[in-house]
Amino acid sequence: MSEQNTEQNTSLLREWCSKIEVANRNNIFCHCRSCGYEWVDSSFGVVCSNCGSHNVEQISCWQFPDD
Ligand SMILES: [Zn+2]
Repeated sequence: MSEQNTEQNTSLLREWCSKIEVANRNNIFCHCRSCGYEWVDSSFGVVCSNCGSHNVEQISCWQFPDD
């Protein structure tokens, strides 16, 4: 990371983080690696509701192109 514009980067980053946080809160795509079950949740660290596995892949929906 560059040491220049640290202050600007920090506030930009903070703005980014809060946006991501809000997006994350709404839609997190979950995929169970154990049984293949797929669903959308609103938090991380979830357990598969189909088989109870903790081996769940979680992808924030903001990572997908929207349009
Ligand atoms: Zn499962």
